[in-house]
Amino acid sequence: MNSEIYLDVNATSPVLPAAIAAAALAMREGFGNPSSTHATGLRAKAMLDAVRNRACLLLGVGNGRLMFTSGATEAIQSAVLSALCAVRENRLRGEYAGELLIYGATEHKAVPESLAHWNRLLGTGLELCPLPVDQGGLHDLDALRLMAPRAAMVCTMAANNETGVISDLDGISAVLCASASPALWMVDSVQALGKMALSLAATRIDYAPFSGHKLYAPKGIGMLYVRAGAPYTALMCGGGQESGLRAGTENMAGVAALGAVIDALSDGAKFRSHAQLSQFRLRLADALRGALPGICFNAPFAGSLPTTLNFSVPGFSSKELLDLFDAADLRMSGGSACSSAIAAPSYVLEAMHLPRWRCAAAVRLSFGPMADEAFIDAACARIARCGQALRASCLIAPALPVACADGIVQLGVDGECTWLVLDAASRSCIVIDALAPLAGRIAGLVKGQHLQVRAVIDTHPHQPGGSGRAALLALLEGQLDGAASAAPLGWPQQCESVSLGGALAADAIALGSRVLARLPQQGGALDNATYLLGAITQQRQLAPGAVEFAFTGQALSPLLARVVGPRAILCASSEAGSVPCTTLAAQAAPLGDGIAPRKLEATALEAFLQAHPAAMLIDVRESYEHAATPGGHWQGRPSRNVPLSRLVDCLPEWLLGVQQPLVFFCRSGGRSAKAAECLQRLGHQHAWHVADALVLEGANREQPTVAA
Ligand code: PLP
Repeated sequence: MNSEIYLDVNATSPVLPAAIAAAALAMREGFGNPSSTHATGLRAKAMLDAVRNRACLLLGVGNGRLMFTSGATEAIQSAVLSALCAVRENRLRGEYAGELLIYGATEHKAVPESLAHWNRLLGTGLELCPLPVDQGGLHDLDALRLMAPRAAMVCTMAANNETGVISDLDGISAVLCASASPALWMVDSVQALGKMALSLAATRIDYAPFSGHKLYAPKGIGMLYVRAGAPYTALMCGGGQESGLRAGTENMAGVAALGAVIDALSDGAKFRSHAQLSQFRLRLADALRGALPGICFNAPFAGSLPTTLNFSVPGFSSKELLDLFDAADLRMSGGSACSSAIAAPSYVLEAMHLPRWRCAAAVRLSFGPMADEAFIDAACARIARCGQALRASCLIAPALPVACADGIVQLGVDGECTWLVLDAASRSCIVIDALAPLAGRIAGLVKGQHLQVRAVIDTHPHQPGGSGRAALLALLEGQLDGAASAAPLGWPQQCESVSLGGALAADAIALGSRVLARLPQQGGALDNATYLLGAITQQRQLAPGAVEFAFTGQALSPLLARVVGPRAILCASSEAGSVPCTTLAAQAAPLGDGIAPRKLEATALEAFLQAHPAAMLIDVRESYEHAATPGGHWQGRPSRNVPLSRLVDCLPEWLLGVQQPLVFFCRSGGRSAKAAECLQRLGHQHAWHVADALVLEGANREQPTVAA
């Protein structure tokens, strides 16, 4: 059994065993309401006060106040509400309170969203101004200097959650003091706790929110520091708890757990020093460099939390990397967890003016300050395994030639498709509709497998910059077998002649035992082409029944019905939702839009397999993910790996004859749903997918150690 290696601590951390024990004890024995006046309540109150006192000591709260909240988002609301209420009151007194709400351009979204929300709700009419950062993620102090005299509130985080960049709080403070700014200053200290020394009362900071679940405590507990004398307005009122600062019966289990973390932090024994953590970062960075050549780190190491690494790798999307890491049981994320379900470029990296591709393809690795050598060793070994998996799939240049794949491969970018037709026996291939962003990857596949390229052809003219034909030809010099052609869609000059159904004559390129024939255009037009793949007879005939695949481009040719059989797989150049394939038979009996793929709950799988002993389990993750998966089998069951990019190759086998039940699975259910939908559309009666397959598997695995 393998344990997962959790490297997403900036999103949330595992819970310290001592914190779990403290929470359990608080619930079992210290369950009293701290507002009750009997002994049970007094015991609970004593625990609450003790944790607060220890936290105040640790954070250097001085005469300031520290209240418990449900987390940092609530603490941020309280700080913003307090500051804006103070602005209103000051105005009523006729005092100047500023006009601007300034926030760092890389703040967590909770900050600008709260500013906008309360500004709107309270009708304060202040102007929201993002404070720019430089390429290293540091706030532009000159810009702040200009705005500070007019600032009502300034929000600048202590350390960034995506990049780990540590803000120059002394520099910001100096600007605010020198300009005699009326601003109230909030420093979101969520990512700083446990990683940077904080002595809050010795600073000009007015408000500092904290979150327990970013540092080994459970979710649902946080803190807000309020400087002595800073204005405060309660967000929640009621029973007067927290000295009237925050009503609602306290989360005593959370407070107890946070107390255990604060104890561990104060005692320091288990927390690593900055030097040790920096050493761990260097080792992880070396492992990443070895596995992912060309990797770019998106924040300078000097001046960043050593526990956060943010990187992009040329030629890889963040989804591809995260799928790979997840398969290897390495949990990382793309940017911040709150927004990682949305595949948008990182606004933090955009604010740092990093190149677009780096903002869109970023991955964040973050570990906790209690990580140990063994944990880092294991993480480095898994990262190396990912590199090997990519090399075996030629997505990174392999050291030795790898076995040649056979059949059809689908690659895609933004819903557009490239098709590769590979012939292992003759070590040759044809590339159809090479997309510009994929040119490097296709060249890598061709070079890694030592393939001869017979043709690089398009089915249609692409948008300017869309076709990767020229770029690919330039990258493949030496492996082109007469494939470079100046013809409009790249059809090679040297070809042979075959006859198609309906007595049509066509040009064709030989590829091993098959040919790829170009369907003649009606009226001889050359702006769209359809290519047919199949085996010819001795009479050089590609009969309709022998056509296995047709690459149809953007639209089906009216001639198609004359030259292919009803079950030939028609491969389009763009996908709408599922895998971009159809057949003439499916076209004749469409199922309509919006069909839902048949879904099996993972918990119902056992019964399904017993009822269908012939069912085949198919892992549609890419081969590099499969290779990176420790153990290989899913829940000990034999399964076949047919990556979604190779699904088309298996369609003729699965659609013909007696249809065997097929059960697709992947990581999160997205790709398995596509596979099941594709089969369903093509008339397969028994295609299913398991939506939560690997999620469920994760639940059965050994739990991560707290060393993360
Ligand atoms: N601020 C920062 C810098 C964070 O990283 C997060 C969480 O991602 C928050 C605020 C919100 O914290 P919570 O989940 O406790 O509301």
